[in-house]
Amino acid sequence: MPELAYINGTICAIEEAKVPIEDRGYQFGDAVYEFLATYNGKIFALDDHFSRLERSLRELKFPTVDLTQLKSASLELLKRSEISSAGIYIQISRGVAPRDHKFPVKAQPQLVMTIRELAQIPQAVRTNGARVISMEDARWGRCDIKSVQLLANVLAKQKAIEADADEAILISPAGNVREAASSNVFIAINGELHTHPLTRQILPGITRKITIEICKEEGIKVNENLFTKEQMLSADEVFLTGTVTEVLPVCQIDGKLINDGRPGPIAEKLYKRLCRRTGQ
Ligand code: PMP
Repeated sequence: MPELAYINGTICAIEEAKVPIEDRGYQFGDAVYEFLATYNGKIFALDDHFSRLERSLRELKFPTVDLTQLKSASLELLKRSEISSAGIYIQISRGVAPRDHKFPVKAQPQLVMTIRELAQIPQAVRTNGARVISMEDARWGRCDIKSVQLLANVLAKQKAIEADADEAILISPAGNVREAASSNVFIAINGELHTHPLTRQILPGITRKITIEICKEEGIKVNENLFTKEQMLSADEVFLTGTVTEVLPVCQIDGKLINDGRPGPIAEKLYKRLCRRTGQ
């Protein structure tokens, strides 16, 4: 079960894959990405991820990329690796060109993928819930675009790890909960869910979308509205969603327990329903 890379049409071992130092992703963060999970050898929500990738490319005015071919290549990569529970990383940079801020005239977008065993959330965190910190959101104004400019997310996650926590929830200057460093945030109050609306301040998470679909099926009302950090701290439940995170209850924020500090019934139900969809 080899962990493999794909570069512009060629599949090779990850250690052998190299990108030129003048790749704009490397010098400017001028690249977009997706991260997909496989379950039982099948990619979950493949079309959703490719639709979001297409949107990211469009928003950043990238030259045309043949995503149909890239989608087939991702399936080929999965087949060759034979990894059953894999994480597939896809990155498209604007190309390789002498360093200059303006868009290069001739450069070809560089298509890169890797496939590795999927890193799982530790069972203890799944069972007991995640501990998170909150902090001010220091990211740029287009968090709806899945670009590789993740420095603020990296610093937020590191701050969480150093505080012995699992994730960092990002708060707007006005005190509203946006999302977390690598997941979306939901809260439950009196049986209804609240999550940040799809604006430029959050990533339109695929798991967020699927969770909302599941809620519709289950008759759970989801309000896509702003809510404050104080509302989150006094909510009945708080949970995170994401491709790796799936649906993960939060038991503690900044050292304060959420409700009784135990995973709540809505998050538990939604996790089970998501597992049914992924075929776990
Ligand atoms: N927000 C951010 C900032 C993320 O990095 C991620 C992970 N891609 C998510 C939300 C969750 O998105 P998805 O469900 O598509 O993985």
